[in-house]
Amino acid sequence: MALIVQKYGGTSVGSTERIKNVAKRVAKWKAAGYDMVVVVSAMSGETNRLIALAKEIQPHPDPRELDVVAATGEQVTIGLLAMALMELGLKARSYTGSQVRVLTDHAYNKARILEIDESNIRRDLKDGYVAVVAGFQGVDRDGNVTTLGRGGSDTSGVAFAAALKADECQIYTDVDGVYTTDPRIVPEAQRLKTITFEEMLEMASLGSKVLQIRSVEFAGKYKVRLRVLSSLTPPELPIAEEAVSGTLITFEEDADMEQALVSGVAFNRDEAKVTVVGVPDTPGIAYQILDPIAEANIEVDVIVQNIGRDGLTDFSFTTHRNDLKKTLDILERVRKHVGAREVIGDDKICKVGLVGVGMRSHVGVASKMFRALAEEGINIQMISTSEIKITVVIDEKYMELAVRVLHKTFDLDQPR
Ligand code: ADP
Ligand code: ASP
Ligand code: MG
Repeated sequence: MALIVQKYGGTSVGSTERIKNVAKRVAKWKAAGYDMVVVVSAMSGETNRLIALAKEIQPHPDPRELDVVAATGEQVTIGLLAMALMELGLKARSYTGSQVRVLTDHAYNKARILEIDESNIRRDLKDGYVAVVAGFQGVDRDGNVTTLGRGGSDTSGVAFAAALKADECQIYTDVDGVYTTDPRIVPEAQRLKTITFEEMLEMASLGSKVLQIRSVEFAGKYKVRLRVLSSLTPPELPIAEEAVSGTLITFEEDADMEQALVSGVAFNRDEAKVTVVGVPDTPGIAYQILDPIAEANIEVDVIVQNIGRDGLTDFSFTTHRNDLKKTLDILERVRKHVGAREVIGDDKICKVGLVGVGMRSHVGVASKMFRALAEEGINIQMISTSEIKITVVIDEKYMELAVRVLHKTFDLDQPR
């Protein structure tokens, strides 16, 4: 029998009314003969509320205890959804991450899934149950509760789809698919019927939060068929219509299709820039700076080393704002060790980028982008490129302007 994993985000389970709608939608798919596994987030705003509570007690909450608190949001929604399904006459059973169990590494607040034991769920499906699983959470080998980082329920959904070899993983959210950019910033943004996996990966890495980046990585690694669609349509929408709605993440570029030059604009204001000023320009310096950062499990992104002058150079990179303080503490030690002049942190920056597989075969995209930004007087602080992406780091106060201008410059507001 075909098996579908559906993941519902915070807004989609934001009230008991919405949870009842989710139940109706799930019941519809079950009645059509699908085995159903449903992964849910906490009710919208709940994870923020829980983290804020923790910070009222401890300004920098203990990471283990923070996960104990943050993981409770999803425990509420799995229970409520299982009840709603029962009210519709279905057999349903809820599972927390540790009940399943979703085994992760020990990295509290941003744990990675290592393994999913899907035997309980398989047994339930065989017995005709709908399995309702808490997203965002797991358990490490020592039994500690862990969470997967903000937006982590997407990754739970895809990981379950991979473990169960589901026919499709459907990510239900409050938009009806992946758009050329966040429709909250640019109302003229257009929905993409398909997006290649590579493009989705770049969009997510740039910070387009419609899918957490790790969920896209998982989908690529295990070849999970992934679709993003709306949970706000009427739950009784015919399956034939719903099944082809939203955005499908495709694995192969359709050779016959004219590839758009640029598929989307993404942005991220959760990052900070750090610069080590006046570093001796000698072999191994990048390693000496970045190795202790990696040791501390801090992810870095755009990295720029300037041309040296008088035997000295400046070295900059971006990292998540949450990790800024820790990064600066580490770099202060590195600074003394390597004899650099100064370490500067700047959390008033943002990252804006263009993504498109069409860029591979076209020249001039970068200059068109830089010109559009220059015409608005937006100064570019850092640039990084890949075959299908151009990213710039700019002052955060220009973020929305930059996104709007680039969206227009590359004709993304035209119906496709
Ligand atoms: P959920 O709670 O369902 O996981 P999220 O808030 O995490 O939902 O993600 C959905 C949101 O992502 C949308 O409401 C939208 O504002 C934002 N978003 C950012 N970039 C895009 C994009 N390119 N296409 C669609 N939505 C986007
Ligand atoms: N509830 C978690 C969060 O708000 C996980 C998720 O929604 O995906 O980040
Ligand atoms: Mg999300």
